[in-house]
Amino acid sequence: MIYNTLIIGAGASGLFCAMTAASNGKKVLVVDHNDEAGAKIRISGGGRCNFTNIYATFENYVSSNPRFCISALKQFTPKDFIKLLDDAKIPYHEKKLGQMFCDKSSEDIIDLLKNRCLSLGVVFDLGSEVMSVEEADGAFLLKTNKARYTSEKLVVATGGMSLPKLGATDFSYKLARQFKHKIIEPKQALVPLLLDDCAGLSGLSVDAEVKCNKKSFRENILFTHVGLSGPAILQISSYWDRGDFIEINMLPNLDLFAELKLLKQSSPNKKLTNILSSYLPKRLVEYICSEMKLDKNISELKDKELQKLGDRLNHWRIVPKGTQGFNYAEVTKGGVDTKEVSSKTMESQKQAGLYFVGEALDVTGHLGGFNLQWAWSSGYVAGLNQ
Ligand SMILES: Cc1cc2nc3c(=O)[nH]c(=O)nc-3n(C[C@H](O)[C@H](O)[C@H](O)COP(=O)(O)OP(=O)(O)OC[C@H]3O[C@@H](n4cnc5c(N)ncnc54)[C@H](O)[C@@H]3O)c2cc1C
Repeated sequence: MIYNTLIIGAGASGLFCAMTAASNGKKVLVVDHNDEAGAKIRISGGGRCNFTNIYATFENYVSSNPRFCISALKQFTPKDFIKLLDDAKIPYHEKKLGQMFCDKSSEDIIDLLKNRCLSLGVVFDLGSEVMSVEEADGAFLLKTNKARYTSEKLVVATGGMSLPKLGATDFSYKLARQFKHKIIEPKQALVPLLLDDCAGLSGLSVDAEVKCNKKSFRENILFTHVGLSGPAILQISSYWDRGDFIEINMLPNLDLFAELKLLKQSSPNKKLTNILSSYLPKRLVEYICSEMKLDKNISELKDKELQKLGDRLNHWRIVPKGTQGFNYAEVTKGGVDTKEVSSKTMESQKQAGLYFVGEALDVTGHLGGFNLQWAWSSGYVAGLNQ
């Protein structure tokens, strides 16, 4: 049997592409080395799948070609995905900041996509290793460890390298290179950062403004046994490169030095730790005051010392040692260079009939439902063009 479309990768973008192409009457085969489709959808959003963000625009994506995602996001919008859930009577809610989650479980979305695909005649070959892909005379030939397939078009939906234990590989990049595509170096993104000497603070969470390379995010940071995590750190990690410093303001609503100078006049006998504990967790305050040797009454401290403390809390500059790696990264930034791919259809400009979708491409969303929206939108436009 010759398929119209062969999709490698039964994740978010592959399933969405399959469903869209099959609903246009195409004969579609989906191959994946995992035994089950949608492994990352299953664990996304802590098992409740943050399936989109209603405020998604191109500004929520990191890419060396920042406007590439606009066309696909317009062709298939967050509202379009929500309508799909409404029609299927899948309950959902907005958690915060436009982040949409399933009420029950990510399984609702996997079942929806899988069942639609099956009812439209999509064939699945799961648990199969891809051995080789070749193009000859306008057809793609794919060999797995179990079978050989031929198709008119080939969609690469094999994602990025985050979470190898869920089946992530560098397949997308290898295949792209085979067809002479450039790869923007894949790196971990939405990933916790490593820091020396902060194990004593492990478990503490603070509302903070975090800046790096002219980008800033205000959300919680979380001290871990090896460094920093939490939404603000995950977000900024997508803009961080080895050697860059990150500036953290742990009191974004307060100019601490100015406040402490006033308090030195009005409450000279107050202990600095007691003053700071009204703004920050006590364990953090005690750690910093003991590290800076400031465990005294405020009147005993020189303005220079108060200024140093103000800087430590309002402008804490750190150079992380690295990231926690692909085992902990939510996504991969970088990937197939979008300058060689059509933004309207996701078709390769190097090889007719070859398409790249989802995280395989150099398009990386912020935390908050943007990555899955990219998977749906890019999968949809590729699916429409099969
Ligand atoms: C822990 C975690 C939580 C997340 N939560 C969210 C969230 O709530 N909201 C959000 O928007 N994003 C979230 N993401 C990101 C989101 O899941 C991904 O960006 C999205 O799934 C990418 O879709 P994709 O189709 O491109 O790739 P994937 O969904 O990763 O699918 C790729 C598929 O290709 C298959 N594959 C890979 N290599 C091969 C090979 N060599 N041969 C055959 N098959 C192969 C894989 O088995 C997989 O099925 C989360 C990610 C993680 C890791």
